Amino acid sequence: MKKLNFGAGPCILPEAVFEEASKAVVDFNGLSILEISHRSPEFVAVMEEARQLVRELLNVPEDYTILFLQGGASLGFLISAMNMAREHKKAGYINTGAWASKAIIESEKLGLDTVVLASSKEKNFNYIPDFNLVEKVDYLHFTSNNTIYGTQFKEFPSVSCPLVCDMSSDIFSKEIDVSKFDLIYAGAQKNIGPAGSTLYIVKNTALGKSSFKSIPTYLDLETHAKKDSMFNTPPVFAIYTAMLNLRYLKQNGGIKEIEKLNNKKAALLYSEIDNNPSFEGTANKNDRSTMNVTFTLKDDKDAEAFDNAWKSANIVGLKGHRSVGGYRASMYNALTIDAVERLVDVMHNFK
Ligand SMILES: *Cc1c(COP(=O)(O)O)cnc(C)c1O
Repeated sequence: MKKLNFGAGPCILPEAVFEEASKAVVDFNGLSILEISHRSPEFVAVMEEARQLVRELLNVPEDYTILFLQGGASLGFLISAMNMAREHKKAGYINTGAWASKAIIESEKLGLDTVVLASSKEKNFNYIPDFNLVEKVDYLHFTSNNTIYGTQFKEFPSVSCPLVCDMSSDIFSKEIDVSKFDLIYAGAQKNIGPAGSTLYIVKNTALGKSSFKSIPTYLDLETHAKKDSMFNTPPVFAIYTAMLNLRYLKQNGGIKEIEKLNNKKAALLYSEIDNNPSFEGTANKNDRSTMNVTFTLKDDKDAEAFDNAWKSANIVGLKGHRSVGGYRASMYNALTIDAVERLVDVMHNFK
């Protein structure tokens, strides 16, 4: 029997997507998807459909460019800083966890004057801090969903400077207003597709404006925008599978429907955590993530028994990140409500 994967990433995709992707490995118009030329009309069509699906699903305005690149969100930390630096050479960051901290480091390494406007570090990042932006910065960077700590921005920062966001772990989970942003990036392997591609959504007017005189070719988003995301060999299979997943999302009601389902799944699990005397949520209630739910046992002595209980229910990937401990249930789009019900049953019967 297939295991129920609550892992934080790489994560599950719909069964139908796994099946169709596996068929294409053997036969995609008479070749394997793994061997076709990225310049072939068949793959150019895949790339265009993937970009078009992103545009449709997220209502991306016309004056934004959509790219599938490589390097993961970790390279995005650097790419975003390099491309968004302007005359002040000063950047604002909100530090909401390990990924945000890594983005801050890249900005510092580039020599930008890097201002941490707010941080929740003193409470092990269990909440989303308020911030006040008075200085002139080139851009404000934040992480919309903090995969490790289970916190999520419920409202996006409202600022007059360009807004940049690492949306790796909640993009396509809910409706967003792309027009608020100059740049959004997301590693694919949380909610888009398999590992290997990274999505960038960039406002056209933000391209070619960096204060860095010379950006290395691959790291310059304008390079890729000019080549319709085909500057060099893209990760063909990763993009193909991401396209299948986005197609599936569209066929199943798009973001509106998945958002409802994600809210339902989160409500179900948080309600069990709040009503079950054996468990305790770790994130501040107002900032709780719908994607990654973090919780602990009130009594550590119960750990072995609880671990045995969820493991025998065929659940995997529930262990929390080492920096938080306890448990983390990652509930990306493809995780079914049945799987969440199974986990809730295990917790319920455990008390
Ligand atoms: C997983 C994750 C990353 C790291 O992504 P890579 O693609 O592995 O570099 C960055 N930010 C967030 C919010 C993540 O969840």
